[in-house]
Amino acid sequence: MDIEIIAVGGYNEVGRNMTAVRCGKEIVIFDMGLRLDQVMIHEDADIENMHSLDLIEMKAIPDDTIMNAVEGSVKAIVCSHGHLDHIGAIPKLAHRYNAPIISTPYTTELIRQQIAGEQKFGVNNKLFALKAGQRYTISPHLTLEFVRAQHSIIDTVFPVLHTPRGAVVYANDFKLDRTPVLGEPPDFARLRQIGKEGVIALITESVNIADKGRCPSERVARDLVRDTITSYEDDKSAIFVSTFSSHISRVKTIAECAHEIGRKPVLLGRSMERYSSAAEQLKLVGFPESLSMFGNRRTVDRTLRRIMKTGKDKFLPIVTGHQGETGAILTRIVMGDTPYKLEKGDKVLFSAKVIPNPMNYGQRYLVEARAKMAGVRIFDELHVSGHAYKEDHYEFLHLLNPQHVIPSHGDVGMTGEYAKFAEEIGYTLGNDLHLMRNGKSILIK
Ligand SMILES: [Zn+2]
Repeated sequence: MDIEIIAVGGYNEVGRNMTAVRCGKEIVIFDMGLRLDQVMIHEDADIENMHSLDLIEMKAIPDDTIMNAVEGSVKAIVCSHGHLDHIGAIPKLAHRYNAPIISTPYTTELIRQQIAGEQKFGVNNKLFALKAGQRYTISPHLTLEFVRAQHSIIDTVFPVLHTPRGAVVYANDFKLDRTPVLGEPPDFARLRQIGKEGVIALITESVNIADKGRCPSERVARDLVRDTITSYEDDKSAIFVSTFSSHISRVKTIAECAHEIGRKPVLLGRSMERYSSAAEQLKLVGFPESLSMFGNRRTVDRTLRRIMKTGKDKFLPIVTGHQGETGAILTRIVMGDTPYKLEKGDKVLFSAKVIPNPMNYGQRYLVEARAKMAGVRIFDELHVSGHAYKEDHYEFLHLLNPQHVIPSHGDVGMTGEYAKFAEEIGYTLGNDLHLMRNGKSILIK
């Protein structure tokens, strides 16, 4: 049976991930992601109402028109986790395939919300929630298995496609966190076993391959956040914390620290509310009972007014805006666009890293500069990454021992760096190690 790997998106950039694997006449698609910074540079972009071909033109979603030339029928669309660069193009592309969308329960809920917000296309693909550790029979030849992983969003898995020629492992994205704050560590025993059974190809992320050593555990981020917040037990000033709305374990850590120093955690912002309430409803997280959340502008402003009145030291708002995004809560507060007044000694903690592109740097600079003008103290990078470092990749390769390796999810600097690393440990470029570009494919012989 022929196995062909088709690089649709995410091989020239970080974002808009999509890879298709053809086994004989059957095709399985992994991820359909969005590249957000490509949308942001077109200020008037209103994604919900845009046509896929225009978004392809903008390089915001994968150019899946190349799938027309691939012979076979798509049997399943599989998403590894709920980040937008993995699910954000589902509303624009999935309806072109007569196939179910398979993902973990949390990811499935996020996909459901994405589809519900879509204005242009009717997406009627069946959504199937498969838990980590479970299998799904795609056809007599193909079985999908979800192996537990860890990343910066809950319910992330390594989708493993079992084919008659061995397993194809899709490792986009992951970290090998042995002491996660939420959920269990990756299923090392099962990964080792799959490695023994035989892996024909590994498609792996390469975002942090240039970072030496191992990616610090989420427990380290918890210590960083806790160390800072609990230092202000007797402080009367405001403490704001901004982090990724989708990073549920981090939000939980911050909320628990707030509780610990006697402040009520309050989640503010539409996406903050959306991701956390979905996680709570699926019982994937337990927050302190004192936690409340407000999404829309009216209730957010009302809450901020209440905090001003009741006392800044009674609350700890967890807010959107760590990238300085226009319209995010932190940005609006700093710009004086809410009933909340910043004062000397108020504190803003960033439990996030600036996503490296010039626009974010600029926007974030503006927010920090304005906050400092009001006398606000800034705490930066109380954060650890969700992506494997070099030694994690080393361990992972040795667990799986794949015949072929395909670095993905990165620009050529990252996938190239991965190729260099893989050559050092015995793979050969063009032989069993493949550098792909969007729109290219390789046949695994
Ligand atoms: Zn991710």
